[in-house]
Amino acid sequence: MYRAFALICLLCLPLNVGAEPLLLKADAYLDVASGKLVKPAEILVDNGRIVAINQDQWPDQVDVVALPGKTLLPGLMDMHVHLDLDFETGDFGIVVTESGAEAALRSAKNAERTLMAGFTTVRNVGQVHPSLDLIDAAVAHAAEQGWIRAPRIIPAGHMISILGGHGDLAMAEGLAEGRLELGPEYGVVSGAADAIKATRFQIKHGAKVIKIHATAGVMSLEASVGARQLSDAEMVAIVEEAERHEIPVAAHAHGTEGIKAAIRAGVSSIEHGSMLDAEAIQLMIDRGVFLVPTNGLMDLINLDLLPAQKRAKAEFVSPRMNQSLSAAIKAGVKVAMGTDAPLIPHGQNAFEIVKMTERGMSPLQAIQSATTVSAALLRMDDLGQLKPGWHADIIAVDANPLEDIRTVQSVPFVMKGGEIVKGGPG
Ligand SMILES: [Zn+2]
Repeated sequence: MYRAFALICLLCLPLNVGAEPLLLKADAYLDVASGKLVKPAEILVDNGRIVAINQDQWPDQVDVVALPGKTLLPGLMDMHVHLDLDFETGDFGIVVTESGAEAALRSAKNAERTLMAGFTTVRNVGQVHPSLDLIDAAVAHAAEQGWIRAPRIIPAGHMISILGGHGDLAMAEGLAEGRLELGPEYGVVSGAADAIKATRFQIKHGAKVIKIHATAGVMSLEASVGARQLSDAEMVAIVEEAERHEIPVAAHAHGTEGIKAAIRAGVSSIEHGSMLDAEAIQLMIDRGVFLVPTNGLMDLINLDLLPAQKRAKAEFVSPRMNQSLSAAIKAGVKVAMGTDAPLIPHGQNAFEIVKMTERGMSPLQAIQSATTVSAALLRMDDLGQLKPGWHADIIAVDANPLEDIRTVQSVPFVMKGGEIVKGGPG
């Protein structure tokens, strides 16, 4: 009995190390709201939250974490990922050959990579495995419970799409009719009643954002990348249902008419937004709709590997995406950072931040896009800044990111919710 007690206590010791408040000492931190680089940086963290910054006196009982030469930033946020997909096997077919359980484990691996790159919050805008379980809601729960090392995950469950549309995953591998016919639970709908059922099913099982397909995409069957898909009535039904639960709707939309229809239906964000015209940009500004441009991936996709029709669509859409993003930035649309990982591989998410500076953002704007603007899109008012009382999601970088934005691409220190997950002492 005594021996067992002693053993338990020994096991307790390392766990207790983190119980003291932590004092992070670095060269500087970026106040992302004002854009001011503040020197030095002393940030006290306790119980998962930031307690105080640059106080004259600190309590005696603190563990100091020395980060000499480093600049502190709030944890980065990616508003468009698909954690259950990657191309390690070089094969999109995993969406129909893997079980939901395998997909959850694959998601956990990709989530850890994302966290280690300094991304402490991600929005998973749709699982791509057509398994009934909400894989991303399960992974979000596991992350929250500390079972896995992962960012905070805002899950969408299944994407809502028309029968035969961009998100009808039965189309993924060209399966013959009858092999896999999906219904509203899986996000595949025909009509407003189905659309409401699909929305309710995702929310019932843990979705915190609803993802819809307002238009086709590069990977769908239509010859046109921007062809409209969900009807006005279907989109309005989804938005009304989701907003009754105070859950925002994110709309995948490439074509101009589909973008405008989604905005008019009341969505909170346009994903991709490849073909914006002046009216679409004005509508976004008037209605406070966010753009999540997923711009950088086109620089990474090897077009030669795509079949001819998809390649033609990608070549058509790519320059338009760049022009649309630059025009949106110039007009003052709220742009939140999203990668569409794995199209930018999980763990290389910061590539998108750098790309946005090539489309007209200042380094500060690009960082805001991945912090304060993303937090606003998520309707979270205690994330995305280094402020007393806010979540202690903190990363360190090697250089002043306002002078060298590429420094966010290699993050040596990551803290999420007050816990050091990378680059701790010793
Ligand atoms: Zn996507």
